[in-house]
Amino acid sequence: MSNCAIVGINWGDEGKGRMVDLLTKDFDVVVRYQGGGNAGHTVINEFGKFALHLLPSGIFTKGVVNILGNGVALDCENLWTEIEGVVAQGVSITPENLKISDRASLLLPWHRDLDGLEEARLKDKKFGSTRQGIAPFYSDKFQKKTVLAGELLYPEHLKAHLTDLLEWKNLTLTKVYGAPAVTIDELMAWVENYGEKIKPFICDTGKFLRDAQKEGKSVLFEAQLGSLRDLDYGIHPYTTSSNPIAAYAPVGSGLPSVKIDEVVGVVKAYSTCVGEGPFTCEWFGEEAEKLREAGGEYGAKTGRPRRVGPIDIVATRYGVECQGATNIALTKMDVLSYMDKIPVCTKYIVNGEETDDFPFPCLLDSAKPVIEYMDGWGCDISGARKWEDLPEAARNYVTYIEKQIGCRIGYVSVGPERDSIVIR
Ligand code: GDP
Repeated sequence: MSNCAIVGINWGDEGKGRMVDLLTKDFDVVVRYQGGGNAGHTVINEFGKFALHLLPSGIFTKGVVNILGNGVALDCENLWTEIEGVVAQGVSITPENLKISDRASLLLPWHRDLDGLEEARLKDKKFGSTRQGIAPFYSDKFQKKTVLAGELLYPEHLKAHLTDLLEWKNLTLTKVYGAPAVTIDELMAWVENYGEKIKPFICDTGKFLRDAQKEGKSVLFEAQLGSLRDLDYGIHPYTTSSNPIAAYAPVGSGLPSVKIDEVVGVVKAYSTCVGEGPFTCEWFGEEAEKLREAGGEYGAKTGRPRRVGPIDIVATRYGVECQGATNIALTKMDVLSYMDKIPVCTKYIVNGEETDDFPFPCLLDSAKPVIEYMDGWGCDISGARKWEDLPEAARNYVTYIEKQIGCRIGYVSVGPERDSIVIR
């Protein structure tokens, strides 16, 4: 296969990790190109069950090189904890199969502190941050007030740079939030501890990728979250602080000129959303509880109950367009098996008028869903491996969604395990 991106079409948690895990065997390199340790990509394979936060989901596949690109928020403390956890389950992680871009910026302890301080200041207007420091990190990156991972290789330069940044950051910590100042000794102790651990993995991954391209190797780009959380195209301001869309993959991975041949968009067979922000199809009460339980919809990173509802055609079509998806993986079809009738949000009503178009963010609060129902299939489909194994009603659901969102559904996932999938 040639170059491919695996991306989320909706609000995240669509099952991207299981798709990367499934498809990695066809690629030489897997790159995470944006976001940080706030992701929770669940992978179930021969090594066990994992919730990957920063490590690319190709880390389990022998011979595959995994890269953390320049676009990620590199939290070396959490990355190291994650590496230790995965290694403890029998997976080999060495500088041969994991490479960290020397141009990735370091997420520092003060980013996490500031995330918590700002959410506390916002009180009931909070954004529902995972408090991993992602928003303060990307704000600093755009102000050019971060240090690059490669600077860990130049200790004297690093200390001078951190001292300058600290002087500036302490103004915000102490004067804006009334928090204690950080000392350079505390900061250096943290950097020397965790920085030292990840140092062997740091290299010029841009050059590595360019060489890999020249040798005809294929690259899989792995995103975090989904279109509707994209900083520029999502439900602003309830987005993440980076760009999960496939168009950002070349920039955030270190191969700015790469052509991506296939974009696999991952869509859940129903809707879920973690955190704050408008969620037009949201269910409450008993029916929400039933769906949440059936789908095990609790955050992989935070354990928070996910908000749930029927599939949202309006948001999904928009998500497909933002991603430029060429193929769709529809996941968690098996979860809908308990329903007699399958609800589908086909349109929105905004300001009293029906619309197929995803509204401007501030209009979303007043948008109402138009719900139609399709026949359920009334049996367990988790054993299906071929298109013909699916009952007619399930096939009808897939082809209906496909038509509505304007993109072929090439994969229908019927369980979390690697082989629980129908490939059309
Ligand atoms: P990601 O962040 O997009 O990788 O998604 P998450 O890992 O947060 O959430 C997806 C969840 O659904 C995980 O617990 C997966 O193991 C699980 N999952 C993925 N595909 C399927 C499926 O087809 N059926 C079922 N029952 N679970 C699935």
